[in-house]
Amino acid sequence: MSRYETVIGLEVHAHLNTQTKIFCSCSTTFGKEPNENVCAVCSGMPGVLPVLNEKVPEYAAKMGLATGCSVNLKSVFARKNYFYPDLPKGYQISQFELPICEHGVVNIEVGGEVKAIGLTRIHMEEDAGKNIHSAAENASFVDLNRAGVPLIEIVSEPDMRSAEEAVAYLKELRSILLYLGICDGNMEEGSFRCDANVSIRPVGQAEFGTRAELKNLNSFKHVQKAIDYEVARQIDLVEDGENVVQETRLYNADKGTTHSMRGKEEAHDYRYFPDPDLVPLVLDAARVEQWRSELPELPADKRVRFMEQYGLADYDAALLTAELAVADYYEAAAAAHGGDARKMANWVVGELLPWLNESGTPVGDCLLTPEKMAGLLSLVDDGTISVKIGKDIFRDLCASGDDPAGYVKAKGLAQVSDSGELEAMVDTVIAENPSEVEAYRGGKTKLISFFMGQVMRLSKGQANPGVVTKLLQEKLA
Ligand code: ADP
Ligand code: MG
Ligand code: ZN
Repeated sequence: MSRYETVIGLEVHAHLNTQTKIFCSCSTTFGKEPNENVCAVCSGMPGVLPVLNEKVPEYAAKMGLATGCSVNLKSVFARKNYFYPDLPKGYQISQFELPICEHGVVNIEVGGEVKAIGLTRIHMEEDAGKNIHSAAENASFVDLNRAGVPLIEIVSEPDMRSAEEAVAYLKELRSILLYLGICDGNMEEGSFRCDANVSIRPVGQAEFGTRAELKNLNSFKHVQKAIDYEVARQIDLVEDGENVVQETRLYNADKGTTHSMRGKEEAHDYRYFPDPDLVPLVLDAARVEQWRSELPELPADKRVRFMEQYGLADYDAALLTAELAVADYYEAAAAAHGGDARKMANWVVGELLPWLNESGTPVGDCLLTPEKMAGLLSLVDDGTISVKIGKDIFRDLCASGDDPAGYVKAKGLAQVSDSGELEAMVDTVIAENPSEVEAYRGGKTKLISFFMGQVMRLSKGQANPGVVTKLLQEKLA
């Protein structure tokens, strides 16, 4: 046990997938030519006024409602002032004193234990543009396509105690956003990004230690590694009698280390004040209740339902509900199959999910549709093919979309159950392995699996194991 406890609080930025930007009608489409999605408002021309996209408070409030926050009927946009070339107005419109949502909670599960992580607040803001540095041209460029893209920032309480908890929390948040359909969750493109505030304190100490804020974490793996590295770094410092300083640190993914970006002295004084161009946002309670009634079944609820309705273990239910499209796939496949829903869960968790992961295929693009998946399982159920053959051809079916029954027929993979054919194979195996036969008859009955393996090899995995077992037992007795 370490003598130190880790304390982590996360600030998560999520792009809202609205069609247009937060204060103008420019498109939010990613990957356009630089400065294609730009107008007078989002490029910071003088004399123009922002107009709030009404989808933004709706999405932000829905995230708040999904995480047990209270939604403030009055919230205020504020200017966060700083200078940077990707911020043409010289300020970012955000929320400060009166955010749209406060005091929520997200439940996570780590090591079989459920833990509640507090949400301090959720506020709306606009994203900044992007500076692009070109070594080839020895110049820097500014692309404002991202300027004015709507974001919500979700700030947690410092409630997490390990990198594993931080990752579990992030995965849960991302899952909720995807269920709500308000963010695409793409970490590499920066639609879902996080800053991790990390500190340590001696076990038993009530006050928090000084924190470092880690930036540039664009995958779950990076979050895990950056926090682990940072915790070790802080413990080393304290053990050496030095102090942790409050600063912003950048994670270097190539080296797996963090290094100082700016200290507290260089920290910005943002001189927040209410934006005079925007009236306070006032929502009426009925509207908020309407949004609440529109919330879909959320991951945590779906997980409990899957356990009850399909008799699944917690672990499988969690894997199947983490992504809405996967949950829908499973339910469609289980319904089409109509048989043992747990067996279907085993195939989705054990075969489909690894294939999706390894091939980088979204479940919606998998050509083995839920109906075809059900068909494959039925072939196993009725003994047309063995479980082993089913697993062997699984990936081919995912990639090709072939009808499982047709595929099995065309490739001649149907299980051999004909006892005449199998008897001949059993006889061959017995004749070829006299010493094993003798050992078996002398009491080493475990050798049955050796004989089974030999018959399977002869039959290229297609022998019906039930029939073979019976034949072997008869002939070896
Ligand atoms: P800032 O805006 O300067 O980053 P905030 O007060 O908004 O500061 O805090 C940001 C995050 O830091 C929150 O998620 C909070 O939970 C977390 N945090 C605050 N103090 C600590 C600490 N001592 N150790 C770890 N995290 C902390
Ligand atoms: Mg911060
Ligand atoms: Zn614009």
